[in-house]
Amino acid sequence: MNYSPTTQIMSENPTQASSSHTPAAPPPLPPPLSRYESQKRRDWNTFGQYLRNQRPPVSLPHCNFNHVLEFLRYLDQFGKTKVHLHGCVFFGQPDPPGPCTCPLRQAWGSLDALIGRLRAAYEEHGGSPETNPFGNGAIRVYLREVKECQGKARGILYKKKKKKRGSGQPVRVNHGQYQHRDGVIKNQKMPAA
Ligand SMILES: [Zn+2]
Repeated sequence: MNYSPTTQIMSENPTQASSSHTPAAPPPLPPPLSRYESQKRRDWNTFGQYLRNQRPPVSLPHCNFNHVLEFLRYLDQFGKTKVHLHGCVFFGQPDPPGPCTCPLRQAWGSLDALIGRLRAAYEEHGGSPETNPFGNGAIRVYLREVKECQGKARGILYKKKKKKRGSGQPVRVNHGQYQHRDGVIKNQKMPAA
């Protein structure tokens, strides 16, 4: 994972992020958090710190998708994924044979996972799902663009997860046979390639 700016900027008290909340007394021995939960907490603290560092500082209720987009671009300086520019001879090569001067960025997968965690954290901290800036369509568009751009630059085909059931997509099971997800098997000729 590329995303690791937390150590520099998360020393402040995280309860300052939402001053409208009365900070509850921490339980004496909190159970250990899962990796996902502790990462989500770190992400949330990092984002809160980022908002407080804006000039002027941005309070959580005033945070919108533009702040989230700026946050994602800000994180690129901590990225470790080489994304080749169009002029680079290694553009589109998954395993370049040599070094180049193209910039390092946050990998699309890291940003995608980060947004998922922050989206959940926002609502856990009292934010409304309707106004959740992490769920805004502009964020989805941005992530899709990053995905396409990085896929081309790095020569990577991001495979779609095909775990959904009932999608109606036929699955080839045998010569000339397609099994539909609902179990119906139809005899079909393979389309000419
Ligand atoms: Zn390059």
